[in-house]
Amino acid sequence: MGNSFLSVLKRLEHEPQLSDLKRILSPLTPKEEQDLFRYAYHIKSREVGRIVYFRGIIEFSNICTKDCYYCGIRKSNSNVTRYELTDEEILREARWCHDNHYGSLVLQSGERSDAAFVDKIERLLIKIKDLSQGRLGITLSVGEQSLETYKRWFEAGAHRYLLRIETSNPALYSKIHPAGHSWEKRKQCLHSLRDSGYQVGTGFLIGVPGQTIDDMAGDVLFLKEADADMVGMGPYIPHNQTPLFSETAGFDPVRQLSLGLKMIAAVRIVMKDINIAATTALQALSPTGREMGLRAGANIIMPNVTDLAYRTGYQLYQNKPGMDENAFVQRQNLEKTVRALGEEVHYDAWGDSPHFHNRLKNHDPSS
Ligand code: SAH
Repeated sequence: MGNSFLSVLKRLEHEPQLSDLKRILSPLTPKEEQDLFRYAYHIKSREVGRIVYFRGIIEFSNICTKDCYYCGIRKSNSNVTRYELTDEEILREARWCHDNHYGSLVLQSGERSDAAFVDKIERLLIKIKDLSQGRLGITLSVGEQSLETYKRWFEAGAHRYLLRIETSNPALYSKIHPAGHSWEKRKQCLHSLRDSGYQVGTGFLIGVPGQTIDDMAGDVLFLKEADADMVGMGPYIPHNQTPLFSETAGFDPVRQLSLGLKMIAAVRIVMKDINIAATTALQALSPTGREMGLRAGANIIMPNVTDLAYRTGYQLYQNKPGMDENAFVQRQNLEKTVRALGEEVHYDAWGDSPHFHNRLKNHDPSS
């Protein structure tokens, strides 16, 4: 095959290589960029359909034991007022998701692994399953835990888990985290999640200081190797109360958005039948960022259903959008957006990735 842009895209689809990934993640002409997104959209339409699933996200606590250099709610940021929603508040928001036909929700928070936290999650899982007669699907995104904890939560009703590896490059990982935060441990957690039966999602910070095009190309191949079922990734956005802020002098939002979209397209072309989220960080860079994400190949949106009173407390980065857009208004706006793209929102469904079911079929000789 030659080296025309189309042949690069075809090779990516059939035998992904680092060099071709680097080619598409490097600056492109407007025409090439358009061809890339069209190609990815074609694969999305074929593999997962022109259907969007909503997962209501409840950011139930910003209390965190981690100290990641990029994150606004890191333990050492003493400017943050810490909060934790009560069980009743969380259940009210879960019920809202169910009443509004979101087939599933995501529980996300800062990272803790103490017994009170582990018990709380288990209790909530059981109650959420109960209030929806088992119908609401539940994704957890609460960080690194022991195999035993992952198993307990799976038993209690969680069936998907998001844990971003943040970067596939261990050396870069150690530059953006303090000592004691371990890339190997995080990777091990992805294995434990898989072994516990979850559909496993991972992802990256895109365009974080110190990251090269090689690193990002490696990130896409990491997903292939990890055989991920879902991906949540988004452009890095600075927060002025974090150590990494001092390295963001040349921050270029236009480049970040473009990189974020190109990563979505690359992941769609390489991974094909997985779920890919159009994340809020895209919207932070452009009011239509999430639509652009859907056009580049994403098929999941996670509308924020957290009570407005708590939203300012969960600013992982600055200028996070949706601080005053309540869950109801957001649902209406998003639905309009999806329709305008000629796509449909699929309500009342878990919306598992076809990849997960294909993976089970392939591994179970009896089916
Ligand atoms: N603590 C949980 C999840 C909450 S943070 C966990 O460890 O899994 C969710 C994600 O927000 C992180 O994985 C990180 O990739 C992203 N994030 C944090 N700071 C960010 C920033 N400054 N810009 C963009 N994304 C950020």
